[in-house]
Amino acid sequence: GTKLEEELFRVKQILLAAQIDCKVSGTPELVKTPLLVENVLSMCLKEAITNVVKHSNATSCSISIKQSAKETLLKIHDNGTGLVVEKDWSRGHGLRGIKERLEFVNGSFDIQAKNGTTLNIHVPNVIQ
Ligand code: ATP
Ligand code: MG
Repeated sequence: GTKLEEELFRVKQILLAAQIDCKVSGTPELVKTPLLVENVLSMCLKEAITNVVKHSNATSCSISIKQSAKETLLKIHDNGTGLVVEKDWSRGHGLRGIKERLEFVNGSFDIQAKNGTTLNIHVPNVIQ
């Protein structure tokens, strides 16, 4: 198994223990992806799921991993309270950590607070 595959397995267990229904689409088996990128994505997944369990009060969560010619997109959606506003970011280290680590791999992320919370994490496939 790969790093992301292992992390996906772990976060599924965490969601199960928290009684949050989990749906996965796509595959954690990434093609031609540097280990650094995979490590960063694994860390982002872990922090995102920790936040879902800690803050969202959600009953379900979906994780999507899609790779295209251009980029890898990791999407984590929960149906919880969805209150992630800019000012929340300064409160903890998790989202700041995600941002800083994504910078190493020219990645980026955005958050949508609609019908819960959606975290979209993008990493380009070719690192300049
Ligand atoms: P740390 O990650 O350092 O343990 P934290 O989780 O509070 O602390 P962040 O991960 O940066 O810090 O998240 C910042 C804030 O955004 C949280 O305190 C919470 O209010 C809000 N938040 C993050 N994810 C979610 C989510 N899935 N649903 C609702 N609120 C969220
Ligand atoms: Mg956090």
